[in-house]
Amino acid sequence: MPSNTPTSSLSQMFLIWQVFPAFAVGLLAGVLLWLSPVTSPLQLGVLFGILGLAIVSVVTFLLRHHRVMSLGIVEKQLSQLAETSSALSDSKAIVTLLGTSSVAAGWNLLAERLRERRWNESIEQSLAANAEGNSHDIVYRMARCHIDGLAITDRQGIIRFSNPAWAMMVDIDEKVNTSGQSIFEHLKLDAKAGGQDIRNRLQNTSSPSTHVVQLGRSLSDGVWRLARIPLDGRAHDPEAFVWILRDHTQQALAEEARDRFVGAATHELRTPLANILAYSETLSNAEMDADSQREFFNTISSEALRLNRLLDQLLNLQQMEAGSLTLDRAPCDVLRLIEEACDHMQPLAEKRGLKLDRRTPPNLPAMRVDKEKIISLLINLMGNAVKYTLPGGEVKLSVELQADFVRIHIEDTGIGIPEDALDKIFERFYRCQDPRTSDQVGNGLGLALAKEVALLHGGDLTVQSEINKGSRFTLHLPTGTA
Ligand code: ATP
Ligand code: MG
Repeated sequence: MPSNTPTSSLSQMFLIWQVFPAFAVGLLAGVLLWLSPVTSPLQLGVLFGILGLAIVSVVTFLLRHHRVMSLGIVEKQLSQLAETSSALSDSKAIVTLLGTSSVAAGWNLLAERLRERRWNESIEQSLAANAEGNSHDIVYRMARCHIDGLAITDRQGIIRFSNPAWAMMVDIDEKVNTSGQSIFEHLKLDAKAGGQDIRNRLQNTSSPSTHVVQLGRSLSDGVWRLARIPLDGRAHDPEAFVWILRDHTQQALAEEARDRFVGAATHELRTPLANILAYSETLSNAEMDADSQREFFNTISSEALRLNRLLDQLLNLQQMEAGSLTLDRAPCDVLRLIEEACDHMQPLAEKRGLKLDRRTPPNLPAMRVDKEKIISLLINLMGNAVKYTLPGGEVKLSVELQADFVRIHIEDTGIGIPEDALDKIFERFYRCQDPRTSDQVGNGLGLALAKEVALLHGGDLTVQSEINKGSRFTLHLPTGTA
């Protein structure tokens, strides 16, 4: 029995009534044994009988006492449970009873159930706490691997959290702890065009706002899209702000290219149209000789072709963007297509003072290709070679026949393409800036369309180029499509 076992008034009463007679009898027997000399076996028997009774009485007391103490504990704990439920929450307050009595067994069973319930509750609580901890952890990890720059600041703009993408975009070491630094120091808005104005607007309002920040003089120096949102959604009294920084450069360049293209296309449509109208009006009004008439007709025809080409480009571009550019394949003699494209380019090359050389094998297998698209692809490649080669240069077309592929090379001795632009020239609207050919008109669409057509045929269009030496474009067409 534990030393701090509680005793009750009931058990005290039983204790007094059991201990008193047992002690009295035992004491009396002991005194008699010690004082009186033993005279006969009868006297000895009587004394031992009394002593035996005392011992039996003490043993009985102990057994009953144990049971009574158990009842006392049960009584005490039940009254505690009745007074307060806090005993339930402390599993140690429920004391296990020793012994094998049904009271002890019943009580211990009850105590065990209570303990189990408490244990289950504590597991549930720790699981819930863990789950909450995990969700914070997941959000934190998501923020860290987000491709946009993310930062959280207090209302004064002092950083409390920033992710690695943020550090990369504002050009600081991602291992540096940014906590405590000023967001405005990171953004360096004052050094950027229109940045002072953006900073004032950010400081004068706490509403959600988005700004486009140009990093240098031109769009290609970089463009950010900066958004700031009150963290708890209360625009009038935010505790903190979430800042999102996105690299907007590609989108800004594409938007600029699109605007330029719309402007150029309008101009391109208007010029041939105006020429056609002017020449046809003159033809209908004036008296002129047959040669002049033919010249006027030729001009009208070439302006109409120019118009047609531009409309084709616009249509193909729209189909390419919608993913619906398709081929109209038929078996073709590729040498005939090459001849047609070269004949088309010959006058232009001569006009520009260039030599156009053609080296083709005597025959090529028939191939299933989209005739019109392959001709305009070749015209575009030869047109580029003519446009970007200075007078006196040379443009050469050659054909190489291999087991599975026909390769058509178009080489020039022109201005060449800078190495860092070799991938970009196949992007829509991309044009290299070279003052030597700034008078050459174009939309930056020809190669994008040409590459798409080559890929649709199961082939490819590749380039090799060296600045100031020349370029070599190769169209790879699989022969197996016959
Ligand atoms: P268009 O839409 O009328 O074809 P473009 O010729 O300018 O206009 P692309 O044919 O797509 O457009 O060519 C993209 C850019 O690649 C050109 O603007 C030019 O800067 C560069 N380029 C293409 N071919 C050559 C070449 N043979 N030599 C040098 N630069 C070239
Ligand atoms: Mg072109």
